[in-house]
Amino acid sequence: MQVSDRLLGLTGGGSDGWGLFMKARAMVAEGIAVTELTIGEHDVRTDPAILEAMAQAARAGHTGYAAVPGTPALRAAIAARVQARTVVPTGVENVLVTPGGQAGLFAAHLAACAPGDPALFIDPYYATYPGTLRAGGAVPVAVPARSRDAFQPRAEAIDARAEGAKSLLINTPNNPTGVVYTPQTLAGIAEVCRARDLWLISDEVYDTQVWEGAHVSPRALPGMAERTLVVGSMSKSHAMTGSRIGWIIGPAQAIAPLETLATHTTYGVPGYIQDAALFALSQGAALEARIAAPFKRRRAIAMKLLAAQDVVRLIPAGGAMYLMLDVRSTGLSGKAFAEALLARHRIAVMPGESFGACAAGHLRVAMTVEDDAFAAALQTLIDFAKECAACPATQTAS
Ligand code: PLP
Repeated sequence: MQVSDRLLGLTGGGSDGWGLFMKARAMVAEGIAVTELTIGEHDVRTDPAILEAMAQAARAGHTGYAAVPGTPALRAAIAARVQARTVVPTGVENVLVTPGGQAGLFAAHLAACAPGDPALFIDPYYATYPGTLRAGGAVPVAVPARSRDAFQPRAEAIDARAEGAKSLLINTPNNPTGVVYTPQTLAGIAEVCRARDLWLISDEVYDTQVWEGAHVSPRALPGMAERTLVVGSMSKSHAMTGSRIGWIIGPAQAIAPLETLATHTTYGVPGYIQDAALFALSQGAALEARIAAPFKRRRAIAMKLLAAQDVVRLIPAGGAMYLMLDVRSTGLSGKAFAEALLARHRIAVMPGESFGACAAGHLRVAMTVEDDAFAAALQTLIDFAKECAACPATQTAS
């Protein structure tokens, strides 16, 4: 039997970009000590109090089918959180609870695009984006953002590719670049969306990880609430990656059919997970700040180390748990640098190329190991870059 082209072609025929991560994991499985600065996973686990709330809910019997769009209490809590953070009026009719942000991204694109519709996204991008768009039948169209612009997408570049497109997917704070879009960038994006009648799908899963100033949701910009689908998640904000809980925020006339989609696909999120999420949200911003604090601290460590040299360039790191480093001065591609760093120093970072052509010659560093190990690994990376830049012939010898 033949498997559908849609599934077989999900990654676009190329690699899915996770080769180096898999290699590092294989080394760890063989007993080799590797400092893994690869995936976006906290070095702390879900808070014990959240787990206790989860266990209590399960013991109390919330283990049957749960409300598909989310329990009324959880939807209300999410609506209140969103309204408090954005000042945009938000009720339960604007909220659909999803099994994580990833499922939310997929569903949001089904809402925005018919099969064959072009769907815009920004390069560099979170590695699953093109596949998620293809899975829904849309045709992914990359809009380049440039290192020299600190990876802030330009409105002209979006507009130049917008003909026929139905949606634009953005992500701020951004994975992989660690960049937070400026108010000017967001205003330009909103203008193109209004002029080109695009849905804006705004991936805000890192909204609690903003290192200076506050998160701005483009849904709050003039004329945007009716055309924006915000994807949120508790994976990053509450270290609940394995619980698979997130949401879509949007106009009621989009949320209602998305609920129908959920009925026919996921059938919602387990009730005990929803209850744990409700408990976690009730802990307020203090818990979110505690979860984000290690990344803020490590970003400060990195800025200090990187300021003392001029071989590796840090892209302005405004948020999320990542740093994007420009290593083009070494003469190596991101992939060659990352492979050599792993082979020689047992440090795993993601090649920029895993996140699109625009991040070539860069590295994504996840700040996901404890402070001292992080500082030591970053210093080794810097020293290795200096060595490569000074002596190109020995660069990749391991
Ligand atoms: N969006 C971005 C930018 C991400 O980095 C991730 C996960 O790393 C997700 C969405 C998906 O998150 P989850 O499905 O765990 O909520």
